[in-house]
Amino acid sequence: MARSVVIVGGGTAGWMTASYLKATFGDKLAVTLVESKNVPTIGVGEASFSTIRHFFSYLGLAETDWMPECHATYKLGIRYDNWRAEGHHFYHPFERPRIVEGVSLADWWLHKRPSDDYDQDCSVIAALCDAKRSPRQLEGSLLELDAVEHEAEHASRSTMAEQNTQFPYAYQFDATLLAKLLTRYGTDRGVRHVLDDVVHAEVDERGDVTHVRTKESGDLSGDLFIDCTGFRGMLLNKRLEVPFLSYQDSLPNDSAVALRVPMEMSDQGMGPYTRSTAQDAGWIWTIPLSDRIGTGYVYASDYCTPDEAERTLRSFVGPGSEDLTANHIKMRIGRSENSWVNNVVAIGLSSGFVEPLESTGIFFIQNGIEQLVKHFPGGRDDHQLRRSYNRQVANVMDGVREFLVLHYIAAKRNNNAYWQDAKARTVPDALAERIEQWKVKLPDADTVFPYYHGFEPYSYTAMILGLGGLDVRPRPGLALMDDTAASKELRQVRDQAASLVERLPSHWDYLAHVTKLK
Ligand code: FAD
Repeated sequence: MARSVVIVGGGTAGWMTASYLKATFGDKLAVTLVESKNVPTIGVGEASFSTIRHFFSYLGLAETDWMPECHATYKLGIRYDNWRAEGHHFYHPFERPRIVEGVSLADWWLHKRPSDDYDQDCSVIAALCDAKRSPRQLEGSLLELDAVEHEAEHASRSTMAEQNTQFPYAYQFDATLLAKLLTRYGTDRGVRHVLDDVVHAEVDERGDVTHVRTKESGDLSGDLFIDCTGFRGMLLNKRLEVPFLSYQDSLPNDSAVALRVPMEMSDQGMGPYTRSTAQDAGWIWTIPLSDRIGTGYVYASDYCTPDEAERTLRSFVGPGSEDLTANHIKMRIGRSENSWVNNVVAIGLSSGFVEPLESTGIFFIQNGIEQLVKHFPGGRDDHQLRRSYNRQVANVMDGVREFLVLHYIAAKRNNNAYWQDAKARTVPDALAERIEQWKVKLPDADTVFPYYHGFEPYSYTAMILGLGGLDVRPRPGLALMDDTAASKELRQVRDQAASLVERLPSHWDYLAHVTKLK
């Protein structure tokens, strides 16, 4: 039975892992976290999945405990600008389409085509995003929608893959501040915190790490070692020489340049969404936090130099950006062949990363941690536990890769070599066949990537119908069905959206109110 764990790395991955292990095992597990004073963390303003709330509730942290400290905001979806054509935008909302007469409203929409805007016709969240609304009333109650899960039902600890309903929002937060908050959370609960550089990992004849050597604090021994050293993959990839499988043949973006833009949010309002704006060699993210905007250009170095990318980003941000320091980041896109080998488990960027589109980095971390707890080694059958863990973690990342590749293939934007090449690039495994299926029948559970990867068929549908580049046809059988109820439901979505826009406070007003309550 593993009784002691050493985590190397103190970024988001390291501290999320340390906190979760302590919340789960308490004093029965000794946790040491060693992090370098010299190697910085990635630390860009970060957007998350709606399921991140299970991580916080597992730790016993309410929104008011952590949101103000991490400068967090709400995220009701992702807004895509210019992916179809210049000046066009649509949302990928955290909202499933309703079912009418046993048929998804998305299918009815395709059949009836009441407008060009699937998102506005079939989700209320698109209108809330345009109007910059909060998903909560000032007194704290959540917007009422049939499809929204009841929070009380999930008051006990639950994990991401156990959810049957869609929650309407995620968060955007400063990941560096979250790591700080979790440092306090972890050390208060007994995590031993060592600030030092790991210079060597000693491996025994079976291939297990016995201890890591630090520059000034001696050797740190443990039963299990967690590699949270980011893109370096110091223990897993470097020391144990576990191969890294690149996704670059299908996802060419390998670089990013980021800026932190101070902003007085009360002046300009705050969109409750992450924005992705298509560019000549990639896309720019815009993530509003309570005191600043996090922004960055994710690009393919085959199509754009770092200087060009920085110039593009500064001109996108506009006046004032010239004084801000740009952070250039080289990204390793793909995954480790196995994230758990012998007694080393990689969590975070060391395990894998599929570029920042759709904000999956922290989701991968949460998944890795939850699965580690589910597969925690006990001495017997560890080999089978590792196999099961590795399969699950690989499936999650391979599934996300498919979903992201779809974004570039289905985007109507086709104005230069970067966007044209995206349509001609190698498509992973079965995706080409799936796309042909989706053109005649919108994605469902039987036709998307078959293993859990965080995205449901409705997300694929929102992207295909929003991006507008695939020739998708309605299901012929709908022409023979009575569409009265579907027409009524489509009207109702618009009416409900207008009523919610009327009644909900602005995103900024709600967050300012909550912060004052603290
Ligand atoms: P890092 O932050 O790199 O931390 C590595 C840690 O290892 C540091 O503490 C470092 O000091 C330590 N370390 C390294 N070497 C040693 C050593 N020898 N000894 C001791 N310590 C050592 N994810 C999202 O969910 N949403 C987003 O919007 C998003 N945007 C992103 C944008 C970009 C451009 C990039 C690159 C990533 C983005 N991510 C996003 C991913 C997210 O940033 C990472 O998943 C997250 O920060 C976790 O990083 P990490 O902890 O694995 O690694």
